[in-house]
Amino acid sequence: PAETMDELVSLCKRRGFIFQGSEIYGGLQGTYDYGPLGVELKNNLKAAWWRANVYERDDMEGLDASILTHRLVLHYSGHEATFADPLIDNRISKKRYRLDHLLKEQKPQVLEAVAEAMGLGDWDMTTLVAALMADPEKAAEAMTSAKVIDPANGAPGDWTPPRPFNMMFRTNIGPVVDEDSYGYLRPETAQGIFINFKNVLDSTARRLPFGIAQIGKAFRNEITPRNFIFRVREFEQMEIEFFVKPGTDEEWHQRWLETRLQWWEDQGIPRHQIHVLDVPKADLAHYSKRTFDLMYNFPTLGFEEIEGIANRSDYDLGSHTKAQSELNIQARVMENTDSTAKLAVQDPDTKAWFVPYVIEPSAGVDRGVLAVLSEAYTKEQLDSGEERIVLKLKPHLAPIKVAVIPLAKNKEEITSYARSLKARLQALGMGRVLYEDTGNIGKAYRRHDEVGTPFCLTVDYDTIGKSQDGSTTLKDTVTVRDRDTMMQERVHVSELAQYLLERLR
Ligand code: ATP
Repeated sequence: PAETMDELVSLCKRRGFIFQGSEIYGGLQGTYDYGPLGVELKNNLKAAWWRANVYERDDMEGLDASILTHRLVLHYSGHEATFADPLIDNRISKKRYRLDHLLKEQKPQVLEAVAEAMGLGDWDMTTLVAALMADPEKAAEAMTSAKVIDPANGAPGDWTPPRPFNMMFRTNIGPVVDEDSYGYLRPETAQGIFINFKNVLDSTARRLPFGIAQIGKAFRNEITPRNFIFRVREFEQMEIEFFVKPGTDEEWHQRWLETRLQWWEDQGIPRHQIHVLDVPKADLAHYSKRTFDLMYNFPTLGFEEIEGIANRSDYDLGSHTKAQSELNIQARVMENTDSTAKLAVQDPDTKAWFVPYVIEPSAGVDRGVLAVLSEAYTKEQLDSGEERIVLKLKPHLAPIKVAVIPLAKNKEEITSYARSLKARLQALGMGRVLYEDTGNIGKAYRRHDEVGTPFCLTVDYDTIGKSQDGSTTLKDTVTVRDRDTMMQERVHVSELAQYLLERLR
């Protein structure tokens, strides 16, 4: 794996995986653009997720809901009231921080002094942040007198009272700009699934247990976007809402944990690189009965979340349904006077209506891309003394599957052979096949190692039946070079499709 984040950032820029958003105008913080290879890798990761969770299961349906969202959706979901991060400013440096991030950067004795000033005996980070938010004026005094350091300049700050900051992007919808014509860019894809529960149920005749899967963009106005594509303001999520009968939820929660760990392993992230955090009760989101966070061992950052797997009980459907009082909802939900749909199912035996429980595996695409890149990144010392960087991506994730390289660029017979071979391989549907005639062969191999291309094929004089010794025994064979072993073998073009498909699966 990569040793540092900088190594990855540099490879991504150098080879065209990921660029800073709006770069030529100084960059827009918290946005990134996926380049020619990044878009392929990201699409391949999403396709692998969709294949495993929709096509290879018989209890799942797909969905693609809109990004622009009615404000009532995010009102009843609880986001308007609670989707906030604690924010604090340093009056001297004018720097702004997320309170919990700021506290994590402090020495233990400083935190101890803050806790003491707040009158806390026994505390951890969660209770400390809660206490500071509960009494913002006192918090400002406590943090200033405890000499909480501003990480930007290492000096003690003059801290403002902390305040909650809602992370949703609010936007005007339609030509009239007034107080009622606003909506939100969705902060998660999940809500689109809940509000379509009845539509999907009615149009597919599904019965519990079943799930709805969705991949799409989500937007959060993060106070401090950082760490490359780990924390950004625009990102993609791959989310499943899996609906089950209450009482079977804990078992399904465990099952999904195992299923998801296995999937990450199939993407090249070994089990030992993921730590499963059973989120402590005090840290649970308002909707959650229990949550497992999958924490990947990122370079430089250490173990950080790539996916959360939450048991959301009947909170979501219970929040968005009409006729709440008839449904014996277990979670604490806001009274809903606007919904027009009953988001419940009928027990086939007793005929009683009830609200399904939800298990939600919610993964970040961008964090997944980062993890997969990091895990694949390999530095090798060659016998020649040279160093080789090679991305040992699983073949199904590789941005380019095969590069077809004509060994003589100005020999028409060779280039046209290579072009037609490229076209035939491309038609097999295994992903991108590249016709590659730039630079010398050594440079081409180096580049394709760095971007993880599993196979490079070379077309030469032997291939077109014009070997130097006059023989034609190698006619219609090409050299296949393996990315990981660097071994080369001669393969007849008639066997090439089979050869490649077997190894790229
Ligand atoms: P964090 O605690 O790191 O902010 P979260 O717990 O708020 O994350 P969830 O709301 O559980 O995240 O979202 C599910 C997934 O979406 C996360 O596991 C992560 O992979 C991804 N995600 C969330 N916020 C961001 C972000 N700002 N940038 C990139 N990915 C994100």
